[in-house]
Amino acid sequence: MVDRADRAEALAEPQAREAKVAAPPGWTVRDAAELYQIDAWGAGYFGWNAAGHVVVRPDTTAATEIDLLEVVEGLRRRSYSTPVLIRFSGILEHRLKRVHDAFTRAIADHDYQGRFLAVYPIKVNQQRTVVEEIYRFGRPWDFGLEVGSKPELLAVMALVGDELERPVICNGFKDEGYLEAVVLAKKLGRKVIPVIESFDELHLILKLAAKHGVRPTLGVRVKLASQGSGRWGGSAGDKSKFGLSVSEVVEMFDLLAREGLEDCLQLVHCHPGSQVQDIRFLVDALNELANVYVELVRMGAGLRYIDVGGGLAVDYLGSQTNVESSMNYSLDEYAADVVHRVGSVCDQAKVAHPTIITESGRAIVAFHSVLVFDVVGSAGSSVVREVEPRDAPPAGERLPQPILDLYDALESVSEARALECFHDAEKARDEAVQLFSLGYMSLRLRGLADRLFRAVCTRVRDAVAGRDPIPEELEELDRILNDTYFCNLSVFQSLPDVWAIEQVFPIVPIHRLEERPTRKAVLADITCDSDGEIARFVDRQEGADTLSVHELRPDEPYYLAAFLVGAYQETLGDLHNLFGDTHVAHIRLDERNDWWIEEVLRGDSARTVLGYMGYDVARLLARLTQDCERAVRDGRMSLEESQSLLRFYEAELSGYTYLEPD
Ligand code: PLP
Repeated sequence: MVDRADRAEALAEPQAREAKVAAPPGWTVRDAAELYQIDAWGAGYFGWNAAGHVVVRPDTTAATEIDLLEVVEGLRRRSYSTPVLIRFSGILEHRLKRVHDAFTRAIADHDYQGRFLAVYPIKVNQQRTVVEEIYRFGRPWDFGLEVGSKPELLAVMALVGDELERPVICNGFKDEGYLEAVVLAKKLGRKVIPVIESFDELHLILKLAAKHGVRPTLGVRVKLASQGSGRWGGSAGDKSKFGLSVSEVVEMFDLLAREGLEDCLQLVHCHPGSQVQDIRFLVDALNELANVYVELVRMGAGLRYIDVGGGLAVDYLGSQTNVESSMNYSLDEYAADVVHRVGSVCDQAKVAHPTIITESGRAIVAFHSVLVFDVVGSAGSSVVREVEPRDAPPAGERLPQPILDLYDALESVSEARALECFHDAEKARDEAVQLFSLGYMSLRLRGLADRLFRAVCTRVRDAVAGRDPIPEELEELDRILNDTYFCNLSVFQSLPDVWAIEQVFPIVPIHRLEERPTRKAVLADITCDSDGEIARFVDRQEGADTLSVHELRPDEPYYLAAFLVGAYQETLGDLHNLFGDTHVAHIRLDERNDWWIEEVLRGDSARTVLGYMGYDVARLLARLTQDCERAVRDGRMSLEESQSLLRFYEAELSGYTYLEPD
């Protein structure tokens, strides 16, 4: 698939590669990488090549480099157009190894006597291939899976074998059916550990265990006093919806002891929330959980596992800061803290070190998926460099004072007076809007006021472009002057967290990086919902309101990609405007490190999504055919026209729900 000569070139040192790039003076591919902060958020999995394309490095080394544009074009030649979600299973494999290595190092550094096991919470990305791959890649280290519902357990029960050391942890609310499945799975030889969240669950499982003659292995989720942090802070702390308070845990232990089942309580669990951006909150929760662990051991519980839940964050912004789409710690620091805290609390209490379990989801799967989409058009052209001269007013009208003031501001812009001119223009623009609303200004003059205001903003932005920092008020110029790039995707289907929780994902053009991007844009999707837009991007600081993009060229696709989208996005996505699942391509490397398409799942057709909504497509077609026949009979349509409409209708029913190239 990959041309060997290209690969040899791509493997050359970055500087050597750039030397060959015919870039305009003052701009190199490296500048683009810096602008889009690829190294900061890419964690080594993403980079750029001499051709100005984004590359993917599944194991973070140049030897495995895959040109993303090459993959997109390869898919297109096979009739899978964008938008397409591309999965790199090599990245999944590498993430698991990274987590394993970080804990192995921490265990050695802290002379920890227990083991480490990761369990992957399948809710984070339940796709069969993802779960199967994670289970397969985690085999050398006995990594397990976590489920949060009955259907998730049903999926996992059949998937895992009877590998005794590989746990399946069951969280979430459990009814009798869920718990019966747990008990029977244990009979089947699976190491299934239900985490008890309430006394109802405890009573039920004890009843079912007795009925089936099983001695259950139990965990308990502890409601810690330590408050979580970030958007999901409420998953932990006194008021969290899940788990037993410390006094209830003691009550639970006493109940088990009365039944002679105290050795069945083998695991304590907490979940400090997802995307925990500040390491201090993780450490506080850990300390508390470790103390609960040692106290229960002293009371006689048969504990063997301490399960510290998920929460390990992903630095989507690449800023390494304590803000929502970032994190102020590394995976290595996290592993060291977990191992050190658990180890030292146990040492103080002279309790044997338990097996540490983590339920990290986001940190394992986020990196492996990339959503590539094309830009289908732009609007706004809000940068205005030419306006009609003052002495040629529209339709010869007399110019009112606010418009004269806007001309004055425009003519006075200089670096020194930039802020003053911007303020004057804002005031004059507001007065023009008022005049128009009161009926004292024509539509043409209102349009002129708008253009003049944008022209002042453009000139002011150009005047202060070299200043660092630019005055705070002028930072909003980018927002005023941005273009809108319309993108062939649905935010609600493919990036729901952008809409739901204002999550920032890194978005980068996958080609033309050797060209200086000359426009600033917000991205709008093709749903007819004004919320379907992306207006927060990664930049050198903690996020920007616009994305630097290239001028669109006629008849040439322009591809952008959203990175780190492997966690939570697919299952949370919805069918707003009936845009369905995108195509999904699984890319692998072969033994020569050439990429190949292992599997492509075609995205939903219009027929499929209409079916989800209860439409009987055969009946729709029959009804339309009838209407066409009537139109032919009444002479409103020719037979050819009616046939062509029906052919179009049928073809579109089988087609992609997104825009397709001609
Ligand atoms: N474990 C439990 C119980 C969860 O509820 C979640 C998700 O919220 C996770 C693990 C995964 O968390 P993360 O993806 O932040 O690692």
